[in-house]
Amino acid sequence: MNTASGFSDPLVTDTPLPFPELCARIHDRIRTFLDAKNVSDRIRNVQAQTRISLDVIGEALEQYRLPELSLSYNGGKDCLVLLILYLCALHKKGLAQIPNPSSNIETAVQCVYIQDAHPFPEVEEFVVRSSKIYSLALLEYAKPMKAAFADYLKDTPLVKAILVGTRRTDPHGEHLKHFDPTDSGWPAFVRIHPVIDWHYVDIWTFIRFLNIPYCSLYDLGYTSLGGTTDTHPNPKLVRQPSPPHAPQTCDTNGTLKSKFRPAYELVDDYEERLGRDR
Ligand code: ATP
Repeated sequence: MNTASGFSDPLVTDTPLPFPELCARIHDRIRTFLDAKNVSDRIRNVQAQTRISLDVIGEALEQYRLPELSLSYNGGKDCLVLLILYLCALHKKGLAQIPNPSSNIETAVQCVYIQDAHPFPEVEEFVVRSSKIYSLALLEYAKPMKAAFADYLKDTPLVKAILVGTRRTDPHGEHLKHFDPTDSGWPAFVRIHPVIDWHYVDIWTFIRFLNIPYCSLYDLGYTSLGGTTDTHPNPKLVRQPSPPHAPQTCDTNGTLKSKFRPAYELVDDYEERLGRDR
């Protein structure tokens, strides 16, 4: 992917870099992004949101030791941005070198992934691929959320706080703060919401400016990812039908164009979940 205003080379590649190098590269790229001057209002907003999120993650890293922190990750765009910011913050704090004592893998990033009852193969593929790229110690659960988190806390007894990519316009996001204990009746941990005030358009501006690989479903008009039985391409992104005898249009790589425009062309927060039935 190339972007008009961002970096044309990918931020990460499919060949995993050593973890400290990965975090250093992400940090440098975000530094360059934050230092960019004479940018559009949209980019300036994202620069401001990025600074706030890095401060929140920095605060989390002051309050908790690495084995006490985890990230809720399902390959979606919002937790992807959160993950990139977390890796940047680890470098900034000099924590990208420390192996995580609660796992045998030399990584600083513990993650929990709760598989949908009807997962998209594309999502599964992206979770596996991104876990390799970012050296994630990811534990996967195929059960309802509450039971999955209860099991996760049993399996990782040191974890006290989990970074979550919820935004204000998501269901139940309206009144969240940066740090919130779970509601009563839920397994007890602190939820940390560094990207709570990012808008839909901010997320895509960041991903595209920094040239971060993302799940392929987003290029097919999916704007928020659930399972195969309740998630469709967003109807707001349907392409206008071509006249009956017009030649079929192809993407640059020669494949037929999807009937839907890519997710990053949507702008309105409140239209994001129009492709979700729940
Ligand atoms: P998208 O909206 O495009 O699917 P997303 O999955 O990142 O992106 P939401 O679906 O709004 O965002 O979910 C908010 C956050 O909740 C995620 O960023 C992630 O941190 C957490 N989350 C949601 N579903 C799961 C899941 N199945 N497993 C682990 N974490 C999850």
